[in-house]
Amino acid sequence: MGNPKAFLEIHRQEAGYRPIHDRIHDFGEVEQTLSTRERKLQASRCMDCGVPFCHWACPLGNKAPEWNDALYKGDWELAYRLLNSTNPFPEFTGRICPALCEKACVLNRFNHEPTTNREDECAITEAAFREGYIQPHTDIVRNGKKVAVIGAGPAGLAAAYDLNLMGYEVTVFEKNEAIGGLLRYGIPNFKLNKTIIDRRLHLLEEEGIKFEYGKAIECDEAFAKQYDAIVVATGTPTARDLKAPGRELKGVHFALELLSQQNRILAGMEFSKDERITAKDKNVLVIGGGDTGSDCIGTSHRQGCKSVTQIEIMPRPVEGPEDPQNPWPNWPRTLKTTSSHEEGCTRRWNINTLEFLGKDGKLTGVKVQEIDWKPNPEGGRPIMVEKGKPEIIKAELVLLAMGFLKPEHPQYAENVFVCGDAANGASLVVRAMASGRQTATKVDQYIRKTYNL
Ligand SMILES: Cc1cc2nc3c(=O)[nH]c(=O)nc-3n(C[C@H](O)[C@H](O)[C@H](O)COP(=O)(O)OP(=O)(O)OC[C@H]3O[C@@H](n4cnc5c(N)ncnc54)[C@H](O)[C@@H]3O)c2cc1C
Ligand code: SF4
Repeated sequence: MGNPKAFLEIHRQEAGYRPIHDRIHDFGEVEQTLSTRERKLQASRCMDCGVPFCHWACPLGNKAPEWNDALYKGDWELAYRLLNSTNPFPEFTGRICPALCEKACVLNRFNHEPTTNREDECAITEAAFREGYIQPHTDIVRNGKKVAVIGAGPAGLAAAYDLNLMGYEVTVFEKNEAIGGLLRYGIPNFKLNKTIIDRRLHLLEEEGIKFEYGKAIECDEAFAKQYDAIVVATGTPTARDLKAPGRELKGVHFALELLSQQNRILAGMEFSKDERITAKDKNVLVIGGGDTGSDCIGTSHRQGCKSVTQIEIMPRPVEGPEDPQNPWPNWPRTLKTTSSHEEGCTRRWNINTLEFLGKDGKLTGVKVQEIDWKPNPEGGRPIMVEKGKPEIIKAELVLLAMGFLKPEHPQYAENVFVCGDAANGASLVVRAMASGRQTATKVDQYIRKTYNL
């Protein structure tokens, strides 16, 4: 801990976003960066607490106090080595992690000005790439055992990274045309530029991992027999649907249909007019109040929508930094306003969707109903009661952003291990990566035991 008084003297400073008028017309990353001096000052605020709750809260167990101290002292290489000792891809989490660690920071409890771990992480990693501290590992001793990873999202990539460094011959099978999973085909470019994923891919390839694209693998017995172990990291492929009357109308889409198509267009892919989903000149209604919905808002703005409204069936979360239902150091389920919300959006809560309305097969609006939630006298889920009269929200494009179903898996052979969202249901990149790393350890233990390595 370099400066024991810094947390008393220096305030939390976030880099913030590009101004709205500047960012709203392009898909470039919205987040800015601090100067080196400012970044080091931010790192100096870390108190190196006796019990580092940040470390406990981060699913990867990132050692924030250690790398913040190295960063404050200007030892960027050491900061990167410490960061990379627990986090294989800090360039992803440094950009899009909701920073569970910062909510658990003791300074958040003290004055709601936690350390800026996520931004520090990103700055350390970008400096490490710039300065050449990140080089492919080329001295890996192979053990002759073969592992297949199915799915190249953050969980599969983290598992592949660890297993490859342990000496396994790793092949990653991906049904899409490129790696990344939801990093590439869900999260918009304005949160994560895809060149960041490509940069990592080149390193993974140089380190010896093989990638096969356009391969939707069924992990049956015949496939399982070809490898010493298999990691299934196939994510949550099924989005939750809203089967209200009129669902079939042209203009009602799952959020990922819009988001993945937009990311593919930015990657140079072309779509016919009929295939193209666009918010241009449309009133957009996003159903679902979470992060996927927020990404739809930012994307709709950049496509040139007329208006965008986001509705959520659950009540408006409490405002402010503290959540009495889930107090520090846990994650507070409080109202979150993202960069996309700041760009303009009507947000409503306690709204139920009754019907999609249309003319000549095309969506024109959505009939909704304000509701309330009453406590259930028998306990369990509160009871929904209608409030007021149904109303119609004008919309030519509806985006369903209501989460994903937790996948069910068959009884796999004993050498098959499931990880990430495929195992735990839809979650976060940092949790997927942590699960991938834990699964790599399990695979290693299994192979060592089975083959007496
Ligand atoms: C729109 C959106 C925005 C999000 N934003 C954030 C955010 O800002 N921060 C955050 O932390 N989390 C965010 N998340 C959540 C995060 O992206 C996921 O939790 C994470 O990507 C899960 O990683 P995964 O590797 O388990 O699965 P995925 O990322 O879903 O990857 C699974 C991969 O498996 C492939 N696959 C599936 N079946 C097969 C098969 N049979 N054969 C071969 N390949 C197959 C898929 O094509 C995919 O590439 C967001 C999610 C969405 C939908
Ligand atoms: S990965 Fe997320 S939770 Fe972990 S240290 Fe980084 S920002 Fe914090």
